[in-house]
Amino acid sequence: MMNAEIIAVGSELLLGQIANTNAKFISNQLAELGVNVYYHTVVGDNGIRLDQAITIAESRADLIIFSGGLGPTKDDLTKETIAKHLSVELMYNQAALHSIEAFFNRLNRPMTENNRKQALVLNGSKVLVNHHGMAPGMIYEQEGRTYILLPGPPKELEPMFQFEAKPFLAKKVGGYETIKSLVLRFYGIGEAELEHKIEDLLDAQENPTIAPLASDGEVTLRITAKANSEIEAAKLISSAKTAILERVGDFQYGIDDDSLTSKAAELLMEKGLTISAAESLTAGLFQSELAEIPGISSTLVGGIVTYTEQAKIHQLGVAQEVIERHGVVSKECAMEMAVRVKQKFGTDIGVGLTGAAGPEMHDGQPVGTVWIAIVLNDEEPVAYQLKLSGMRNTNRLRAVKSTMNYLIK
Ligand code: ATP
Ligand code: MG
Repeated sequence: MMNAEIIAVGSELLLGQIANTNAKFISNQLAELGVNVYYHTVVGDNGIRLDQAITIAESRADLIIFSGGLGPTKDDLTKETIAKHLSVELMYNQAALHSIEAFFNRLNRPMTENNRKQALVLNGSKVLVNHHGMAPGMIYEQEGRTYILLPGPPKELEPMFQFEAKPFLAKKVGGYETIKSLVLRFYGIGEAELEHKIEDLLDAQENPTIAPLASDGEVTLRITAKANSEIEAAKLISSAKTAILERVGDFQYGIDDDSLTSKAAELLMEKGLTISAAESLTAGLFQSELAEIPGISSTLVGGIVTYTEQAKIHQLGVAQEVIERHGVVSKECAMEMAVRVKQKFGTDIGVGLTGAAGPEMHDGQPVGTVWIAIVLNDEEPVAYQLKLSGMRNTNRLRAVKSTMNYLIK
């Protein structure tokens, strides 16, 4: 079993300017491989202290992963320090040099000497190609230890780890040729409940592994299989997926990089349905989210923000008596909003969103009460109530996500 330590290099981490998300990401990935991570170290851009950190890490880990400090500037000294520490030379890597030159040619800018420096690699290391930046990564082995050097920017580090370092480690750890993962995405079910429903699978997991994660009101399960062929890995993933969906399939909305918004937009575009929305508590957030999807103009026609009671009555045409009788945070008001906006914009679908986002009660309704109404063509409008417990803006975002979810259902 391998024991790992992650050393994140960067004074901005120590100054509290950025969070060490790289360590979080790498730890998560190593867990899938069954590699124990015992220590996270953070050290500033300082050669002496980095050297000390390496010595300490070597006393307690056989896999040491570095993040940051591979760039062209003076404070980027990770590989120089490691080279000195391990008594290894730095050599120019031709492929990396070419890709840096090509980068500057494309920008039509002269390449400076410090940029060439990025193509220097530890002599004898396996070079990891950087598809999203200039500095290559490295894997170097010495005296039974493995050192992995990765660039600091997460959008460079994450794919480099996932597609190059991880397969290398999978092979090293378990003798596997390939490692594949699939993320299942759920909405409308809490993490605890979901884990409870698949408890037997979580307890029995070995290969593939199943890793739950909750964030922003969503829960994901990452299934990771190690195998000796792509087909074998795909089979392992597929059978785990089937077992999971038998238990909690009702709550699954997508996979991998899907989002509730992208799935809702996809469905609307596929069916050729147009949509408009009348928004109160979300004040345009629903439309704004949809507008992030390219090609949405074939579906999203428009909408209206009616924040106050007066705006709901005069700009949208919600009947005054509906509000007098039921209040603005009500099923009836949400349904009126959906029907009116649909009429106004002549769309197939109308959406009405109203609620009490907080921090204070609104219209006699407790904070977190949200009504979402959806009307399709000539059908009766359908309304859903949410009882949210977050802060104001979390509630607003949750209302939008739930609307996307209801559109998918
Ligand atoms: P560059 O070529 O961009 O200089 P680098 O490999 O030298 O890359 P750093 O200079 O250490 O990396 O960091 C570059 C940027 O990457 C930082 O400003 C920060 O935004 C991000 N970054 C660095 N380390 C981390 C970390 N541990 N977690 C999250 N982000 C990080
Ligand atoms: Mg840098």
